[in-house]
Amino acid sequence: MSTARWRAPGAPAWLRTSLGSTVARRLFLDRAVDFWLGEVDAAWSLTERRARVLSVTRETPDATTFTLDPGPRWPGHRAGQYATVDVEVDGARVRRCYSLASRPGERTVAITVKRVAGGRASAFMHAHLRPGGVVGLGDPCGDFVLPTVLPARILLLSGGSGITPVMSMLRDLAARDALCDVAFVHCARSRDDVIFRAELEGLAARHRGLALTVVLDAEGGPLDAAGLVARVPDAFERDTFLCGPEGMMTAFEAAWAREGAAHRLRRERFGAPRAAPTGAAPPTVTLRLSRSDRSHVADAPGTLLEQLERAGERPAFGCRMGICNACRCTRRAGAVVDTVTGVVSREPDEEIRLCTSVALTDVDLAL
Ligand SMILES: Cc1cc2nc3c(=O)[nH]c(=O)nc-3n(C[C@H](O)[C@H](O)[C@H](O)COP(=O)(O)OP(=O)(O)OC[C@H]3O[C@@H](n4cnc5c(N)ncnc54)[C@H](O)[C@@H]3O)c2cc1C
Repeated sequence: MSTARWRAPGAPAWLRTSLGSTVARRLFLDRAVDFWLGEVDAAWSLTERRARVLSVTRETPDATTFTLDPGPRWPGHRAGQYATVDVEVDGARVRRCYSLASRPGERTVAITVKRVAGGRASAFMHAHLRPGGVVGLGDPCGDFVLPTVLPARILLLSGGSGITPVMSMLRDLAARDALCDVAFVHCARSRDDVIFRAELEGLAARHRGLALTVVLDAEGGPLDAAGLVARVPDAFERDTFLCGPEGMMTAFEAAWAREGAAHRLRRERFGAPRAAPTGAAPPTVTLRLSRSDRSHVADAPGTLLEQLERAGERPAFGCRMGICNACRCTRRAGAVVDTVTGVVSREPDEEIRLCTSVALTDVDLAL
């Protein structure tokens, strides 16, 4: 393919530079090569990481573990981190975040997915993802991790599928022989719904430094702060890692704040409550992308991410719910409201999340 083709007079200025044409040719060639690699083996790709499913393990009636081979380019994760997983559902790519439940340092990674009623990705994975299948796998990310210098006393507190990131921490601590004073409190609907039950019981039997408490809905659940303190009297003095359903998160966040211990509480959310949609958004806004020198008129309501996608843009995104920050970008001018926090951002050059921000005026984004 001749380079001249990439220097057509009508092409954007950056493409007519030598670097621009090289980048463009590389992108084009990589994608073409990628296509043919994918035809040979679905796990081969030059442009993204694909992971092959090695095994599928049913944990509970609605939770399944997928063990993946992330390939040689996997950078390794820290216990508690998550990654985006891409699956193709009805011909469309669907991306979701999943905590990496396996312990760091292994050649494989595991995600444990709870089937959500009406959920696209989780239902698809439960129904169709089998050993030999391939998913897209992003880099590990997130700061819900064990500190490098381990705290003396740890509380791992989880509910339902929120056990996945803290299970990675527990596995990591066990592998490092660092289960010195760890309280693990897990809440579940019933005994059959306790994900990793056999492994948890085995670890508790082997490690005197691990105090395991499982709270079932029928036997003292849902757990509140008083119930927690009855089981772990020094709960608020422990470095705590919390992940569970929204009601559990807000209840314990409030309890830790009341006790003046908020600085000892770290949490991971799988979803975010969305504030009521703002009525202040104008019917039409112009979204200017200053880096790529493009503008779009958005005349249908939605978040900036939705409006940009409708306009044909492909901005980076992850969880689409204000958790993972993959879609964070700088808003250079204009005003937006974050539909999760209710915070209005109107100062120049503030960082915003496209997936939760709604434009209140015309907006200039550093994209
Ligand atoms: C950091 C992070 C880590 C996570 N880790 C895990 C993990 O380890 N394990 C895990 O199981 N999950 C995890 N999640 C959650 C996961 O990313 C997905 O959100 C979850 O699997 C549901 O995705 P889904 O595609 O199946 O559901 P979605 O299709 O996103 O649907 C979610 C809910 O919305 C409802 N819904 C969908 N479309 C509509 C509509 N048009 N109108 C009304 N309601 C609708 C569905 O019925 C469902 O109840 C994590 C999330 C984050 C942010």
